[in-house]
Amino acid sequence: MNILIMGPAGSGKGTMSAKILESFKIPHISTGDMFRANIKEGTELGKKAQEYMNAGKLVPDEITVAMVADRLKQPDCQAGYLLDGYPRTLVQAKSFENLSKEIAKPVEVVINLVVEFEALADRITGRRMCKNCGAIYHVRNHPSQVEGICDVCGSPLIQRADDTEEQLRVRLDEHEKNTKPVLDYYREKGLVVDINATRSIDEVWNDVAAALENVK
Ligand code: AMP
Repeated sequence: MNILIMGPAGSGKGTMSAKILESFKIPHISTGDMFRANIKEGTELGKKAQEYMNAGKLVPDEITVAMVADRLKQPDCQAGYLLDGYPRTLVQAKSFENLSKEIAKPVEVVINLVVEFEALADRITGRRMCKNCGAIYHVRNHPSQVEGICDVCGSPLIQRADDTEEQLRVRLDEHEKNTKPVLDYYREKGLVVDINATRSIDEVWNDVAAALENVK
């Protein structure tokens, strides 16, 4: 299955992606995670991406497009893909159209998670992430057993530099400006399924699973 998952920061893309991967044996390709991994490893790519990410801005298209093209050409993508956070601009979407033809893996469905600002602000400012393994928590909705410590690996939890209300506004503006045209582009192709993601995880998952079932 070839799936795109879209939605603003805090809409639950990570949570729904994890659930999708329980049902489909496909690689999860998150451009945000790829950039964070590069920053952690101190690569050239990471150095270039960091200033944009910390400012809540999109990393330039030429950097992002090349990184995704490399990844999609890996053999594990023959099974399909779950692309999370990409494409985020029309330039990326059009370039992805060519790439997906080249590897014969056209997009089959676009899951669009829709959440209002207030709910996003609450999710984002309360979000904590394990520095080591990337596990996600929320100070109220999903706290770790010991405050500030990851349940999975015992490492310290951190707040992402871009997880503040101020940065959220910048990221949502970017989302509105750049990503709405991408959604319209896929909407015209009849591929978008809008899902109200302000509800509980189970309710959202029910709708996501139904949308994927429809594609099969
Ligand atoms: P995310 O983890 O998806 O919220 O992404 C975090 C940050 O990584 C974004 O605010 C951007 O700075 C950068 N990023 C992730 N995906 C993309 C993309 N497709 N195009 C440009 N920048 C991206």
